[in-house]
Formats: sequence, C-alpha cells, structure tokens
Amino acid sequence: MSAPASECLFCKIARKEVPAALVYEDEEVLAFKDIFPQAPVHLLIIPKAHCPGLGDVTPEAAAAVGRIPQVAAQLAKDHGVATGGWRLLSNCGPDAGQTVFHLHFHLLGGKPLGAKLCV
Ligand code: AMP
Ligand code: ZN
Repeated sequence: MSAPASECLFCKIARKEVPAALVYEDEEVLAFKDIFPQAPVHLLIIPKAHCPGLGDVTPEAAAAVGRIPQVAAQLAKDHGVATGGWRLLSNCGPDAGQTVFHLHFHLLGGKPLGAKLCV
C-alpha cells in the first residue's frame, strides 16, 4: 500500500515537515539515520521524488536512483565503514518486509553483517 506523496513519511522528511537526522542532501537525493538502527551505521538513502519502491522506478527517476550507490560509497567513507565493509539493500514489497512505501536503500555497516539478507 503506497501513501500519496502528501501523506508519505519519507516525502515529509524530504520536505522537512518531519524531523530526521540528515547526513547527506543534494537536489535529488537525501540520506538520514534510521530511527531504529540495526547496525552501528544504519542510514537510509532516498530519492527525494516520491516512488513507492524498487519496482516503480520511472525513466524520469532513474538518474537520481542510479546515483545512490555513489552516494552510499561516499557515506560509507564518511561514516568509517568503507574499509570494514558495508551493505546496501532495498526491500521491495510486503514479502521483502518493506514497511515504508517510498523507495529507500538501507546502508548498513560497522559490524560483521553475516549472511543476513534483511534488516
Ligand atoms: P523497510 O522496512 O525496508 O521499509 O524500512 C523502513 C525503515 O524506515 C525501517 O528501518 C525504520 O526503522 C525506518 N524508519 C521509520 N520511520 C522512520 C523515521 N521517522 N526516521 C527514520 N527512519 C525511519
Ligand atoms: Zn514519498
């Protein structure tokens, strides 16, 4: 179930209507700390434009989404996990455990993440 952009939590964070611990921002991409961190470093990276999930990326949104791995790599350096290793993942849909239906990528690091495929 996807909320309209007017009601979407991560759109509200992107519009600064809901506070978040921002760690990166440019015209198209925003990153902030996950409110329930599952690792010492647990950031969420989103395209600012509303998109429900990984299965809904439009050609118009693709450029911004395509830059997210580069943003993640820079954030991994900034947060001291580039050498130790980090994971970037996006849950798409209910079976994957997606709970917020605005496309987001979890950047996790700071401890051995093991074989776990979800957060
Ligand atoms: P997912 O379950 O993959 O949809 O991930 C949603 C993530 O958003 C979870 O890890 C939540 O802890 C996180 N989250 C929910 N609300 C907030 C918030 N207000 N600020 C930061 N992170 C949040
Ligand atoms: Zn949204």
